[in-house]
Amino acid sequence: MELRLYDTLSRDKRTFVPLDAKNVRMYVCGPTVYDFAHIGNARPVIVFDVLFRLLRHLYGEAHVTYVRNITDVDDKINDRAARDFPGLPLNEAIRKVTEQTGKQFHADVDALGALRPSVEPRATEHIGEMREIIERLVKGGFAYAAEDHVLFSPQAMNAANSGLPRYGALSNRSLDEMIAGARVDVAPYKHDATDFVLWKPSKPGEPSWPSPAGIKAEGRPGWHIECSAMAWKHLGEYFDIHGGGIDLVFPHHENEVAQTCCAFHQQRMANYWMHNGFLQVESEKMSKSLGNFVTIHELLADWPGEVLRLNMLKTHYRSPIDWTLKSLEESARTLDDWYRVAADAEPGQPAASVVEPLLDDLNTPLAIAALHGLRGSDVSALAGSLRLLGFLSESAAQWEGRKQQASGVDAKEVERLISERTAARSRKDFKESDRIRDLLAAMGVAIKDSKDGTTWEVAR
Ligand code: AMP
Ligand code: ZN
Repeated sequence: MELRLYDTLSRDKRTFVPLDAKNVRMYVCGPTVYDFAHIGNARPVIVFDVLFRLLRHLYGEAHVTYVRNITDVDDKINDRAARDFPGLPLNEAIRKVTEQTGKQFHADVDALGALRPSVEPRATEHIGEMREIIERLVKGGFAYAAEDHVLFSPQAMNAANSGLPRYGALSNRSLDEMIAGARVDVAPYKHDATDFVLWKPSKPGEPSWPSPAGIKAEGRPGWHIECSAMAWKHLGEYFDIHGGGIDLVFPHHENEVAQTCCAFHQQRMANYWMHNGFLQVESEKMSKSLGNFVTIHELLADWPGEVLRLNMLKTHYRSPIDWTLKSLEESARTLDDWYRVAADAEPGQPAASVVEPLLDDLNTPLAIAALHGLRGSDVSALAGSLRLLGFLSESAAQWEGRKQQASGVDAKEVERLISERTAARSRKDFKESDRIRDLLAAMGVAIKDSKDGTTWEVAR
């Protein structure tokens, strides 16, 4: 069985051949830590977690390196720090913001059932690597210093034409188009409209480091160079898979490729470029102004993380996803059922009917359809397959208990009412037994009678 992945650069699905099967290497752009992550941010986290798990399943746990960075230097972080901690020196305030937000992010994605990546590098710990790449780019004639900035020149890259990729190849744009589309108010220090920032001066009080390229004033890195530096440090000059959301293709990933390939004289940065589609909420673009902006944190107050996870995976990762309450309710019912049936079963090997669609460019909707098929036929394969996908982290009792807690239902009281109802039924007092059933329903508890007795669950 072979894995096939869609590559944004070659625009086709190809068989995945690792550069080194003993160390399969994947980089995914991580969060900028200035605020709670929203449910759109959860999509790459969940999608690439499934790929990470699948790669570990195929190549062995010790043979996959997954790097997801934390961007902890950024204008948005500085603004947030100044706003939230006006009394503190900026650097201290920034540390508070990035620490808090980083912790929140971890709590959120742990709850989504995402494994921690092998390495989670922070941008501020890789300034040396950034400077090194910038120096190489200046030396190679791909970048220049101007007014305390260092700029990368895509025109110089495309003019060099020596075993390098074409700038614009990943996002399928030509430089002429980019020039035509450039803003009129191009910064005065740029030689060309398409040049982008590798390094810039810091304002007073902002985080700053000694600058590269002979610049005297201290400064700080641009965003794109951060990922080139962290990927290089932890995965090398050229690796297997680079991922992120579709919005990152241009300019972020196009610029990463340019920086890395020009600094290390490579034809490619990664063999497969994978991008998840966008998430919208109830058929609308998620935005603060529309009032439909939902954080992972808020959703976790209402739903177990695995419900959010399943809901995300019901759509193929490259398609847009419409995040709706209706779909969430359906995902919750499905998981309740799988927990009841499979959580306490001895897990067997994941079923071929589940693994095969995953091998076909992570076709999770088809894998989920196969899980439904296993429910009635092979519970141990269902349990094993669910675990491969990152579900069933709790026992059936824990799952049910959490649901009751979340809904405020008092389990002891429910049990007492059910035994009263059973007693009423056995003395054929159906008026009383119906009354108790209605009472339970009003408490949000659904009961089910069978020959083995009465079971109950919290109706969401
Ligand atoms: P950001 O913090 O905006 O750089 O986003 C972090 C990650 O979340 C990136 O991989 C983005 O592409 C991804 N992302 C942001 N918004 C959405 C969305 N609405 N749907 C899917 N992915 C998103
Ligand atoms: Zn990145």
